[in-house]
Amino acid sequence: MYSKVIVAVDLSDETDKVLSRALELVGSQADKLVLIHVVEPVPAVWGMESYAVDPINLQQQILDGSATRLQELGAKHGIDNANVHAVLGSPAPEIRNLAKSQQADAIVIGSHGNSGWKLMLGSTANKLLHGATCDVLTVHVG
Ligand code: AMP
Repeated sequence: MYSKVIVAVDLSDETDKVLSRALELVGSQADKLVLIHVVEPVPAVWGMESYAVDPINLQQQILDGSATRLQELGAKHGIDNANVHAVLGSPAPEIRNLAKSQQADAIVIGSHGNSGWKLMLGSTANKLLHGATCDVLTVHVG
């Protein structure tokens, strides 16, 4: 059985299904799971400085909100806050990096997320497979 499994979630409606499959994979031993959600940087738009929106502030608010939602999700399934990571960056490389640094033996990810248009560019799962150094399980969603 796997001893450490990274679960990549986009906090969409499909997240519960992805997490349930990961729990099955480790025989419901939630301490073997590490949750990650990646927040992509807010692009700075030319002329934005004339609006009352500070992109760095906005980004931090999104990151904080995601961390809270991820911790709530983790708590619901018995996953300790120490094993919950909300990070800023690009999803596939950040998920791969966490798998390496945690010496995980598997990554669980949804086959599709809430952004179907990304399929034209290659989904996160597709990108993740290139360069992954451990097993990758894609959970069929919607
Ligand atoms: P997508 O690439 O949007 O089709 O999403 C496919 C799967 O990749 C989702 O079901 C999640 O498991 C994972 N995923 C997508 N975006 C993120 C993200 N920002 N952070 C963590 N995992 C993600």
